[in-house]
This record gives sequence, C-alpha cells and structure tokens, in this order.
Amino acid sequence: MKEQENGDKCCNVLSPGPELLEKTGEILGYGEICNNCLGRFFGKRSFGITNEARGRGLRVSRALHMNVPYTEQAGSCWICNNEFKRTSEWAARAVEAVSGIEFSTFLVGTRVPPLIAESEEMVWSDLSLVDPEPLKSEMNREVGKLIGQLTGKKADLIHPDIVFILDLSGGIVELKVHPVFVAGRYMKYERGIPQTHWDCRECRGAGCEKCDFTGKQYQDSVEELIGRPAAEALGGSWAVLHGSGREDIDARMIGTGRPFVLEIECPKKRLMDIAALESLINESAQGRVSVTLSRWCGRDDVETIKSNKAHKKYRILVEVDGTVTVEGLSIALSTISGVTIFQRTPERVAHRRADKVRERRVLDIEYIGTEEGRYIIEVTGEAGLYIKELVSGDNGRTHPSLTEVLGMPARVETLDVVQVEGTEEVKEDGTSQRPTKENTV
Ligand SMILES: [Zn+2]
Ligand SMILES: [Zn+2]
Repeated sequence: MKEQENGDKCCNVLSPGPELLEKTGEILGYGEICNNCLGRFFGKRSFGITNEARGRGLRVSRALHMNVPYTEQAGSCWICNNEFKRTSEWAARAVEAVSGIEFSTFLVGTRVPPLIAESEEMVWSDLSLVDPEPLKSEMNREVGKLIGQLTGKKADLIHPDIVFILDLSGGIVELKVHPVFVAGRYMKYERGIPQTHWDCRECRGAGCEKCDFTGKQYQDSVEELIGRPAAEALGGSWAVLHGSGREDIDARMIGTGRPFVLEIECPKKRLMDIAALESLINESAQGRVSVTLSRWCGRDDVETIKSNKAHKKYRILVEVDGTVTVEGLSIALSTISGVTIFQRTPERVAHRRADKVRERRVLDIEYIGTEEGRYIIEVTGEAGLYIKELVSGDNGRTHPSLTEVLGMPARVETLDVVQVEGTEEVKEDGTSQRPTKENTV
C-alpha cells in the first residue's frame, strides 16, 4: 500500500535505483560472474527471491537502463568458479555420504576456500556494499534445499542428527553424525565391576602380561556391559556412560538404581524402540547389571545428570571388633545421625584426589538387623559422603565416626547403594528436545 500513499514516487520503489545499477555495472567490470554471486552482493535486499533471481534481475535491469545488449554469463565465474551450477552434484554427494545412516534432521555447512572469501570481501569493501550475503550461507541454504527434496528430511539449525560439510576445495562432503543419548537407571548386582573402564595400573592401558594384554584393570565395567550392546544395536562405534555419581567398585547398586545418560557415538540407527533397546541390553548383561530406560534425550541432560547432588541411601554390613549390644549400637548410631561429618580425603583415594577436608551430613542412619554376627545398617547421606570412612574413622581422618562413638573398631564388609534420587523423571512431560514418542518406531 506504500505505492499508493507515495503516489508519484512509486517509480523509485518499483525499479532499481540508479545507484544499484551503477554498482551492478562496476561488479560486472571485475570479470565474468554468475547470477548467484552477482545477486548475493545485494542478498539482504528484499526477500522471497533467490540470489540467482536477484542477479538475473539486475543484469536485465541494467541492460534496459543503459539500453545496451543483454548478455548472459559466459565462462567461469571469477568468484565461485561456477560452484552454484553444481549444487545438485553437491546434494547428490551428500545423500551418497549418508547412505545407510538413519536421520531425521540435518544441517549443511560449507568450508570455503580462502581465495573465494577474499574475493567477495574485496568487492564488498571496494564498493562499500551494505547488504551482501556471504557465499557460505547461500551454499548452505541452496544445497540444503536440494538435500531436503531428495531425502524428505528437515533442516535443523540447533540439534541436527547429521551435519554435512561441503569441502569446496576438496570436492568432498564430510559427514558428522551426532550421538544418540538415552536416559535411564542402572542396577549393578555384582561386586567388583567399576562404573567405567579403568586402565591397567601396570601398563596404563598399553597392554601387558598382568592385564592379559587387554590394557584393562577390570575385564568389564558398567559402561561396557550397557554400552556394548547399545552401540551394537544402533550401529554406533562406541558408547560413553555419564552416571549421576558412582559407587565403589565393590559396592552393588540396587534398589532404585542409579540415573545415567548413555551417549552412543556415530550411530547408524536412531529410530529404535526404547523398550527393545532395554531388553537387548538386559539380555546381554546377563544379570550382572540391568537397566530401565526412560527416554531418548540430548547432550543437555548429560550436564544435568552430572550436576545432580542428590542424597544417596546405602545398606551396609558392618563388622565390629568387640562386643556390642543392639541397644549400644543403636545409641551410637543416633549420636551421628543428623550430624555433619568432617572427612579428610580417604587414604584409599588419596593417590588420585586432592587432600582436603570435606563436610557432609549424615541425614539418617539406623540399625536394620543382624546377619551372621554382623550388623545391617542403612545410611542416607549427602552426595559425596564417604560411607566406609564414616564407619571406620579412617585412622582419625573422618570425625566423628562409628568407630569413634562405639569406642571399638568397626568396618564395612559390604556396601550396597539402594537409592539415588534423580532428576530425569521431571522432564518426562515431553519438554525434552527429543520426546520418546517421536523418536521411536
Ligand atoms: Zn559465482
Ligand atoms: Zn596391563
């Protein structure tokens, strides 16, 4: 409606101004140029048209304005070397690169040779252009449209499954396959399994006689027992376990299980039924560990799970050197229940952690029963409370301790984690970026 309001000024609005045609003439003076590169110098003017259409329009308008013969581009474009005439080839290469890999969303990136970037930037500054678009973004968009048409998949700038990188100088398409993340809880029924892979202490992972040339201190880890079948099922290269804290190697993890996010790298499949994946993992782990999977999730959830400072509840079997009545034990326990414990870094982990005193509260500790002369005790503590040292006193490094209040040595024989509060349930309302329903078949 602007044209009507401005009445006699409408010609200025409807036809390119002389300045635009002047600059077009100067650009054409640099050498042969394709319509895409010509139009892109004014790429941020107007919208709803391609740079190719902009370029063609400017070429026609200038010929009319100057009343000179109209000429099409002949020969190679001095900016892009006719790369925009090969967008379908680039799209075909991208589709070829991704064959055999499942994805729903993608993003295109372009690695532009420095010479091309310098050429167009030189023109921008020579002619003081105010609304050009860089080659990179036009290439990403145009090849992206074609990939979308060929595959029926959608572009996603934030969380794409796949990133295609067009390497213009190499003439190849590189592929980045984003990992798949799945959230759940794990149970560990067998003692002696670390949460993640540990390098052999002797050879530091290189492989030696002591570790049977595996490079591993322990043959299996929760990470491998869960991650191996998951990576195999999704055609991934490997899997990384992000746990919400970790239990000791010799502790079982039972009860509610421990929240985790499993990251599966380079997956060929990502549209798998979560219940099917869960059964596959549980069959493969043969009762040594098991999982319940709650939902597909994203990298953000790894941060959330890592920063979870939830309370933990343990069930421990305690051996006391000396005679103590159940009543005496219960009184001793009540004196450390609800109390803040000062713990110097335990001797058993001092070689890999900084020596400092941490303060953690025992929220609750109670006697549950007796088993073969030993005492079953349940403790709920703040995240990071060292339970074994709470009982033993760690030669005075932990204070107060059960040993201290009993006046006789006590130690943990076995330890099970029975409850870890988690945060993953709160997001099951579908606010996660990859709701289960959309990501399963
Ligand atoms: Zn060009
Ligand atoms: Zn070794």
